[in-house]
Amino acid sequence: MIDHATIERIIDAAQIVDVVSDFVKLKRRGVNYLGNCPFHNEKTPSFTVSPAKGIFKCFGCGKGGNSVNFIMEHEALTYPEALKFLARKYQIDVVEKEETDEERQQKDDRESMMIVSGFAQKYFTRFLWNEDEGKAIGLSYFRERSFRDDIVKKFDLGYCPDGKSIFTEAAQREGYRMEFLEKTGLTIQRDDWVRDRFSGRVMFPIHNVAGRVIAFGGRILKEDPKAAKYLNSPESEIYHKSKVLYGIFHAKREISRLDKCFLVEGYTDVLSMHQSGIENVVASSGTALTSDQIRLIRRFTQNVTILYDGDEAGIKASLRGIDLVLEEGMNVKVLLLPQGEDPDSFARKHSATELLKYISDNETDFIQFKTKLLLKTTENDPVARATLIKDVIRSVAVIPESITRAVYIRECSRLLNVEEAVLYNEVRRILRSRAEKGGGTLPPDPPMKPKPQPVAAAVEKGDLSIEEMELLRFLLKYSHQPLFEQESEQKEQPEIISVGDFIIGQLTEDDLVPDKHVFKVIFSEMAEKLSDESFQAERYFTHHADNRVSQLASDLLAEKWIESKRWTRGGGHTEKEHEILDQLVPRIVNEYKLRKIKEMHMELEQKLSGIDHDDVDSGLFEILAKIQNLKKIEKYLSEKLGSRAFI
Ligand SMILES: [Zn+2]
Repeated sequence: MIDHATIERIIDAAQIVDVVSDFVKLKRRGVNYLGNCPFHNEKTPSFTVSPAKGIFKCFGCGKGGNSVNFIMEHEALTYPEALKFLARKYQIDVVEKEETDEERQQKDDRESMMIVSGFAQKYFTRFLWNEDEGKAIGLSYFRERSFRDDIVKKFDLGYCPDGKSIFTEAAQREGYRMEFLEKTGLTIQRDDWVRDRFSGRVMFPIHNVAGRVIAFGGRILKEDPKAAKYLNSPESEIYHKSKVLYGIFHAKREISRLDKCFLVEGYTDVLSMHQSGIENVVASSGTALTSDQIRLIRRFTQNVTILYDGDEAGIKASLRGIDLVLEEGMNVKVLLLPQGEDPDSFARKHSATELLKYISDNETDFIQFKTKLLLKTTENDPVARATLIKDVIRSVAVIPESITRAVYIRECSRLLNVEEAVLYNEVRRILRSRAEKGGGTLPPDPPMKPKPQPVAAAVEKGDLSIEEMELLRFLLKYSHQPLFEQESEQKEQPEIISVGDFIIGQLTEDDLVPDKHVFKVIFSEMAEKLSDESFQAERYFTHHADNRVSQLASDLLAEKWIESKRWTRGGGHTEKEHEILDQLVPRIVNEYKLRKIKEMHMELEQKLSGIDHDDVDSGLFEILAKIQNLKKIEKYLSEKLGSRAFI
């Protein structure tokens, strides 16, 4: 846990414009800044940053928040990770709060494993650059393969010295415990026999999406018929091979900016692509593609292009895996490289521009690709052809969205020269049998990328009603503004009632505070701070430690960037909101109360309809009395709201 004072310092230092500018080119526009949204693909900038409020808001995709939220979203980090990220940027020492034993226990193992992995990476990298053996064997290998030094550094490549346990001994001298060296697989221990797993190998650290080292791949350089060319860390608490993509940390920003991800097979494919200037690329590192890996990509884009070398046998073996990608509702394209080339060799020979042109000229839709590939092998063989049609249709059937499916069926009908109706029948048959078999249902529609939506809709998230959101907005914006004076018996001077006093007083008195998490947090913390003159509600809540709170607060405050028409409709009223608070605030409180009363009334009516009227103990009369009472209040509030006093 990071202690509160440190969080405050980080938030103070992390000015929104400064933080966002690292990732987005911003232009000044009046008091705000404007740029192209990094979270969705757009040509006209709708991504707005307000230095005064310390928040950003995209009016295209609805994302918004403070500088910590921005880093969380952009770098795919958790809240504490984002704070640490910013602390590093502003060179603030993070003071971790004492944890309970239980907390420590839970976190310690994983954390210790990450720490030891981080140490190992630094050790291997230092060895590669500074030690004779590292330079002579490791560095010269990378240079022979013409990797530039900046690429070797960017990916933290390294070298593990050749010997029984040179690394392990060094780690132990530095105080790292055998338990975690072994759990991460860096060290192999049997009884009293200890050795380094990766000795004599060049090292490719594997980073998680947040950029921490969680495992390694090591390539052996000397001739050893008994040793595997590539060796990976074993599965561990921090490394699940099937959930990791090599290069995701270095690629995620470009993947989301370009809304596209290239998928290659090996470490060096990723490095060569980066070296040629293409950075939206990840590798599945030898394993068949898994659903978890696909979901990891889908956090950043829906569009994947798989790059294959020209070996047809290899391609056929991997076709099955691609059905998984289709199943996740992603758009899959395939690129076959010229015979004898792999992404690594091909990227070396071409500039980024050439490479991108080759890709866009030659990438084909997966279903088309598969159909053509299989067609080639089944010429003049009717039985094989029938199997092929079934096979292709099976791929089409996993596509979760029916419109996309329809497009594919048309295309396949053309390629296979089979009537659409026949293909439709086959798809339906597959879907039906799948639904019956797994007890599963038909595939659901895929989660779509957020569509551009009006601001109001973006704000309406969560389960808060319009009235509740308006109450919160007035609290956030105007809590300390005087609303009116109230005569008081105890005091000589009339008491000044602020917006905050009024809203909080009204809701508390009538016991009408909504039982919703975010509302309660803002409401109760606001109540505590009411007497504090210097309290800045906007800043406090947009930078709140509870991410749901800061998110909502940012949304509510950002909404007002667009001139609200709500209070200016009819009658030519053009008053600014803050000039007519004495009218608006009581009105919104009453609107809220009326909605609440109506809800309670409805509930009681429902109860009433389920009651046995002959049962004396059923509480019938109590309910009737309550309804009577609510009706009175409803009438009173409606009249008040309808009267001229409230516009
Ligand atoms: Zn956006």
